[in-house]
Amino acid sequence: MAQKEMYDVVIIGGGPAGLTAGIYAKRAALDAVLVEKGVPGGQASITKGVENYPGFIEIGGFELSDKFYQHALSYDLETIRDEVTTVEPGSEFHSVRLAGGEVLRAHSIILAAGGTARKLNVPGELENFGRGVSYCATCDGFFFRDKVVCVIGGGDTALEDALYLAKITKHVYLIHRRDEFRGSRILQQRIFAEPRVEIILNTIPTSILSDDNGVRGVALKNTVTGEEKELPVDGAFIFVGFSPNSSLVPAGVKMSASGYVVTDDKLETTIPGIFCAGDLRENFAKQIVIAASEGCIAALAAARYVETRKGRAKLA
Ligand code: NAP
Repeated sequence: MAQKEMYDVVIIGGGPAGLTAGIYAKRAALDAVLVEKGVPGGQASITKGVENYPGFIEIGGFELSDKFYQHALSYDLETIRDEVTTVEPGSEFHSVRLAGGEVLRAHSIILAAGGTARKLNVPGELENFGRGVSYCATCDGFFFRDKVVCVIGGGDTALEDALYLAKITKHVYLIHRRDEFRGSRILQQRIFAEPRVEIILNTIPTSILSDDNGVRGVALKNTVTGEEKELPVDGAFIFVGFSPNSSLVPAGVKMSASGYVVTDDKLETTIPGIFCAGDLRENFAKQIVIAASEGCIAALAAARYVETRKGRAKLA
């Protein structure tokens, strides 16, 4: 239940961008509320180990997210656990409609809804989600102790999580559609040095195979030779990228061709008073530190926007 009839800012999303925006909004004395449908932390909280957030040589994704959350709560940031269904821009105020029926009104909005794991879209994938198909090694790796798994993808997430799974499972096949990885050099070096990771290049999965007990293998096709084969595995971890959660973005906000929100340097969208920060925004790279810094910029810019609006209203 919302504590205010009208907020200075509604922050949508409780990942690093949203929580940092919450910290800065409260420090700027804004009436702020953060809406998050799941657990605070977003994608970062399901990341195994984070080794590139300054100040922490290594920290668990969940632990870092919890630190962000506790920090935001220390400023008494109001949080609502609900799903946002629509964002309705207005000239007097903007409205945020929640699945529970409530409508929040605010001078400004920060869209920080991030994104979700992309699907492979092959037969057997969705049917076996939770029965051997997973999009989160930290969450599900434990269930594959001493078993054989495959990781599909060639970006940072696939490499990092293949290394994580190599420590728990008996064997990891890392299956990538090209002959070189997209992920960072340092992770590639570690992958090449890990004896429990077997790399299969130029290969795409065409289906996930299962029986009554769940996943039993993956059907593979070599993209160069066209050769097809079945690879027996107990689990398939799919890390083929990320799709922005753009369904909430209201009409009138400019989007990039790839579906991300376009902003100016203050992270304001093409609708005045609506800002965007983090993985939902069109930016150079997706990193926790970038999401956090964008949350800061968006909150400071929203504070300036609200102050200017209130100043104008007083003069009128
Ligand atoms: P990503 O960088 O977009 O990589 C996705 C991978 O999946 C690519 O290798 C891509 O192949 C492959 N792929 C895409 N569609 C596929 C399909 N249909 N079939 C087979 N393979 C497919 O995604 P990500 O690894 O999730 O990373 C997302 C962002 O988060 C990146 O900016 C990344 O740097 C960042 N990140 C950073 C860290 C960190 O710094 N610790 C950790 C995780 C993620 P191609 O290469 O051929 O396109």
